[in-house]
Amino acid sequence: NASLAEADPEVAELIGLELARQQNTLEMIASENFAPVAAMQAQGSVLTNKYAEGYPGRRYYGGCEYVDVIETLAIERIKALFGAEFANVQPHSGAQANAAAMQALIKPGDTILGLSLAHGGHLTHGMRINFSGLLYNVVAYEVSKEDHRIDMDEVARLALEHKPKLIIAGWSAYPRHLDFQRFRTIADSVGAYLMVDMAHFAGLVAAGLHPSPIPHAHVTTTTTHKTLGGPRGGVIMTNDAALAKKFNSAVFPGQQGGPLEHVIAAKAVAFKMAADPAFIERAQRTVRGAAVLAERLTQADVAAAGVSVLTGGTEVHLVLADLRHSELDGQAAEDRLHEVGITVNRNAVPFDPRPPMVTSGLRIGTPALATRGFDDADFVEVADIIALALIAPVGELDAELKASLRERVSALAASRPLYENL
Ligand code: PLP
Repeated sequence: NASLAEADPEVAELIGLELARQQNTLEMIASENFAPVAAMQAQGSVLTNKYAEGYPGRRYYGGCEYVDVIETLAIERIKALFGAEFANVQPHSGAQANAAAMQALIKPGDTILGLSLAHGGHLTHGMRINFSGLLYNVVAYEVSKEDHRIDMDEVARLALEHKPKLIIAGWSAYPRHLDFQRFRTIADSVGAYLMVDMAHFAGLVAAGLHPSPIPHAHVTTTTTHKTLGGPRGGVIMTNDAALAKKFNSAVFPGQQGGPLEHVIAAKAVAFKMAADPAFIERAQRTVRGAAVLAERLTQADVAAAGVSVLTGGTEVHLVLADLRHSELDGQAAEDRLHEVGITVNRNAVPFDPRPPMVTSGLRIGTPALATRGFDDADFVEVADIIALALIAPVGELDAELKASLRERVSALAASRPLYENL
């Protein structure tokens, strides 16, 4: 029973380097967060050894007396957190939660209507070579050219024209709230199921800072590692008992074998923490941080460089910088921020003239920094660093500017220590 450092110094060293990277740079990938040490301890526990195919009280393996209690805790906690009547906490990821939810509700060849990937949707909402695009007949709605918001009249028109069996509301890159009630009305008008994928904004819903889809959707799926701040994983929720049974069989044995009880334990820990007032306060800093960022990226010096913010602002935990009118493209902008110690991802914007590997956008999120303790003043400083990096002339960043931005990033990172006791 050698320690990791003894058994595999190579992997141990790489994990150490990754820890230092997370500690010393500013993590602003909108889908990332820092899981609590308590959740990581649960995930790194002996629960990884246990087979538990089936569900609590109905397993296909012996020795499940403790994992049954753990999985039940996770289920009860997330039901309470979101006010849902049924939850399946076994999906290994958000993609698998979506695959199972779709398998339960519709058949291959059926039509689905989801937000186009190029306009902020997720791969599992109908991308051509994803399971969703291969199995189902995909019709996509888009954001409007004028204000870059989802045009609900267009969703209604497409639903009437194509009669989908499933409508998907949810996004990976969209800075505004969705009208769940209208989505449900449209779904009902054509006899479709409504699935809401709240992977990105689940933590904001839990904190009461975002409308909840649970009362409106036939099914709500989520990841547990984005704004919700837990271990990597997925969950399916519904208020419909008959559908709940179908989701359970679609997850196991439909999509998966043995559940990851170590991850489910970590999910239980994270759901407990998400019910704490400290989580609400953190979610508030997350949303305010994004607003601070949007405000800085709409000031005159930024506009003069051709950089703007999609929809003119944000209501969530991310900002989409629009570089279509800037000489700097998404790839160069991502590289430039990386050089000064800020990690973001380039992202296609709607109607993007540049190719998908380059793009004309950046997706910049605040959840991880808020978890680190960043407050409004910290986000003002981060926003200024990003603005100055984005408006500098194209090409190599001026050495003096680069050094000064790097120094400001290091000072921020040092002032908000992360995982000090690891
Ligand atoms: N759904 C949405 C809206 C997402 O943004 C993502 C991930 O980015 C997923 C699902 C998939 O989650 P996972 O990466 O855990 O499969």
